[in-house]
This record gives sequence, C-alpha cells and structure tokens, in this order.
Amino acid sequence: MEKTSKKVNKIISEIRKLKRNGFLKLKPLQGEVRFKCQRCGKCCNSPLPIILTKEDQKNTEVIKKSSTWYGFKVLKGNGKCPFFEKGRCKIHSKRPTVCKAYPFHYDPFTKKFYFDENCPGIGHGKIVSQQKLREIKNYRLSFWRSITSDTKSLLKICQAFFL
Ligand code: SF4
Ligand code: SF4
Repeated sequence: MEKTSKKVNKIISEIRKLKRNGFLKLKPLQGEVRFKCQRCGKCCNSPLPIILTKEDQKNTEVIKKSSTWYGFKVLKGNGKCPFFEKGRCKIHSKRPTVCKAYPFHYDPFTKKFYFDENCPGIGHGKIVSQQKLREIKNYRLSFWRSITSDTKSLLKICQAFFL
C-alpha cells in the first residue's frame, strides 16, 4: 500500500514538473478541432515517457527498446524515441497506444477530451471525427488501466494531469 502511494506521488510530481516546464499544455476540447500530424517530431523527442499498455508489451520490437520508469515499462525513457528517424515513425502502424492517441487525451472522471497545445498539428487538416474521438477514448482508457486499477490513485493522477 505504502509502495503504491509512493509510486503515485512520484508520477504526480513528474507530471507537475513536465507542466511547469511547458512540455504538457492541455486544453479542453470544445466543439470541433482539426488535426493533421506535421511530422515535426516534437512528441517523439519530448521528455514524456510513453507508458506501454499490456497490448503494447506484446510487440517484441517495442519491448526490446523499452526501459523502466517508476516500475512501468516505457518507451523513450530518456526522452528520445529510438523509432523516430528522418522525421518518421519507423513502426507507425504498430506504434504504442499512447502514440496513437496523441495529441488528444481523455479524462475518465470528467469524461472530457483535451488536446496538447504543444502539438503543431492542431488546427491543420480535417476535423477530427466522432469515430476518431471514440478510438482515442479507448486508447486512453487502456492507457489509464495500465497505470493503476486503484480508483483513488487514478483520480489523483488525473487531477494532476488535467487540472
Ligand atoms: S507534435 Fe504533433 S505534429 Fe509534431 S509529430 Fe507529434 S503529433 Fe505530429
Ligand atoms: S513510437 Fe513512433 S510515434 Fe511513438 S514516439 Fe516513437 S517515433 Fe514517435
């Protein structure tokens, strides 16, 4: 119990640090939003580690390049993704769940969507469809499930993330 709480506190302090340093600027999604990836590589080279879901961990290519962050299996624990090359993701169709959802986020408690203002792809391309938002929601729910099954801990982490 003690161990879990220390782990949760570390995650929360890491989230706050990332927000303070401007690496996570979440804005609630209101109405319609356009998105088209500009292949700038910002998200693939930011200090945010990519927590791998159970499903992601079945990908041997990804697991080989993973590391550990507060007890989680992660990709790009050092801030640079080994799969980013020449402005492209080398494993695009098999990229981790979090990469598929980015730059969108979903708060399981308020049931609201957010997007990361840091992403230059926001405001470009087509309006994100309801179908796409449903996919993003499912990706994010599987991400949250991979972090903890404890509702209180999850609530604390989400509050640090979205508020
Ligand atoms: S930050 Fe946005 S535009 Fe840049 S690579 Fe990531 S998703 Fe694409
Ligand atoms: S797996 Fe692909 S999309 Fe995800 S961070 Fe690495 S290069 Fe970027």
